[in-house]
Amino acid sequence: KKAAFVIGSGILFLAAFGNSLTWHLQKFWGASGDFWQNQWSKLHSRFEGHDQALFYLGTMLVPTVVFWGTNALLLFVDIMAKPSFITKYRIQQDKNNPVDPAKLRHALKTVLFNHMCISGPMVVAAYHLMSYRGQPCGPELPTFHWALLELTGFVIIEEIMFYYSHRLFHQPSLYKTFHKQHHEWTAPIGIVCIYAHPLEHVISNMLPVAIGPVILGSHISTTCLWYCLALVSTTVSHCGYHLPLLPSPEFHDFHHLRFNQCYGVLGILDRLHGTDSKFRQTKQYERHTLLTSLTPLTESIPDEPKKGL
Ligand SMILES: [Zn+2]
Ligand SMILES: [Zn+2]
Repeated sequence: KKAAFVIGSGILFLAAFGNSLTWHLQKFWGASGDFWQNQWSKLHSRFEGHDQALFYLGTMLVPTVVFWGTNALLLFVDIMAKPSFITKYRIQQDKNNPVDPAKLRHALKTVLFNHMCISGPMVVAAYHLMSYRGQPCGPELPTFHWALLELTGFVIIEEIMFYYSHRLFHQPSLYKTFHKQHHEWTAPIGIVCIYAHPLEHVISNMLPVAIGPVILGSHISTTCLWYCLALVSTTVSHCGYHLPLLPSPEFHDFHHLRFNQCYGVLGILDRLHGTDSKFRQTKQYERHTLLTSLTPLTESIPDEPKKGL
């Protein structure tokens, strides 16, 4: 009874919090008047009759700039092993300090190949599927609530598809040929998020993200936002630094460290299947929160002193 009460009030609280949050966000959205719709109308008329170009701008150019922009900053820190106000947030403190240049060069080649030769053509395929479904570059932007609903849908689809395909790639027969490459990095860095065998890149990285907007027949604006969010979120989850006010990367970092824990993105399916049971007994789990102060979590929640010392 007590548990039911706690869970029940927890759900109520979350629902109320979620509602008031969307209310505030929508207020903010509404306050900007028709700003976004006007911007979109301008862009749309500029590309009159060139929907395809507009689509590639939103799903290739913008996400690519966002991805490489974020990773350029991270690579600078990884290669230089400074500034210390960032490196002090490193999760596996003794690793990549600085990153091995030969290993990095090797990873970058695969990353560039995956990005240009696999992601590129898949976005072209997505365009054709989405055009068949409807009008991805229509003159009207989706409403705020619809966009929010779609994004929630994308996140759920990604969690389900990534978790199960990722677990499948951990089957010994598939692991050796396909997924081992991604796990060469037991202490990952940002760019490693798409360092993977081409088949894994298609099935585990691209499809779970690209399929949502195709199923829901989404507008290019929501699709563009989703691609950018997905790329930044996977970069952060691999970056190796638990920085203030950014989503915690402890979960996936732990997957790279221990291999057989934490397969998902959000962790919901891991909880359901018990694939986070070891993770939940670790210091990394205690640190798996949003860092809201400037003190690194490795300092505020230090490792147990090693036995024999
Ligand atoms: Zn990974
Ligand atoms: Zn894995």
